[in-house]
Amino acid sequence: MMRGLAIAGVLLGAADAAAYVRSITPDAGAPMEWNTREIHYCINENGSDDMDFETLEEQVALSFAPWEGRDCAPLEFVYDGPTAIGDDPVEDIGYDGKNIIVFRETQNVWSFDSDVIAVTTVSFCEGVGGECDLAGEILDGDIEVNGFNFRFSTTDVAPRTRFDLRNTLTHEVGHLLGFDHTSVADATMFASAPPGETSKRDLHPDDLDALCDVYASIYDERSPDDPTGCTAAPGRPANGSGWLPLGLGLLALGVVLPGLRRRR
Ligand SMILES: [Zn+2]
Repeated sequence: MMRGLAIAGVLLGAADAAAYVRSITPDAGAPMEWNTREIHYCINENGSDDMDFETLEEQVALSFAPWEGRDCAPLEFVYDGPTAIGDDPVEDIGYDGKNIIVFRETQNVWSFDSDVIAVTTVSFCEGVGGECDLAGEILDGDIEVNGFNFRFSTTDVAPRTRFDLRNTLTHEVGHLLGFDHTSVADATMFASAPPGETSKRDLHPDDLDALCDVYASIYDERSPDDPTGCTAAPGRPANGSGWLPLGLGLLALGVVLPGLRRRR
């Protein structure tokens, strides 16, 4: 009996050790990562229907925080302020020098399935050239939150009918950093989340392994030579970049949807 339990524990531990998954580019198969230590972001000025804008700003900052300033991975996230974007969800998302967080509060601007809580779309390099210094380099990341189908909360004990915003956004920031879904059920990067869950606010050792392995040697050579900022002009094309909506976000009611899917 005891021996059986011990063996099970060893097996689980071994499985967990290398469980995290990196997002890879669809053509070259290059693992995705930022080539800058300092990542800027903006929040759509329309905010969320579920909280005032100041609260939203605080919650977003708290969602980046677990991924920031670790001894093993000195990433920094810089909030550039609110930004205005249009009503076209395709035009708003992509490589435009702005990493945005936007709530989609009406059905016509949410372009994914209704049971997807949030989606992160990254623009990345398939190869070297133009803006791209390395294959798999992430140039832009945008987080869309499904405010039409879901209500969000910010309290430590989330109501069972609502979804904790930090639980959702901390997971999406992981996608923004180039991480895919892990098989570790307690990790922030696990694919599904029930209403009321708050455990994804804090990184699991599996998430920390991912962060520290990928960003241990990140440097800031490139930052901030790109005109990032919330007023940067949209629409600059990136040589060799592609599109991939990451994650299928966090899924409602603990249901796991299969795989990645393309936006276009
Ligand atoms: Zn996800």
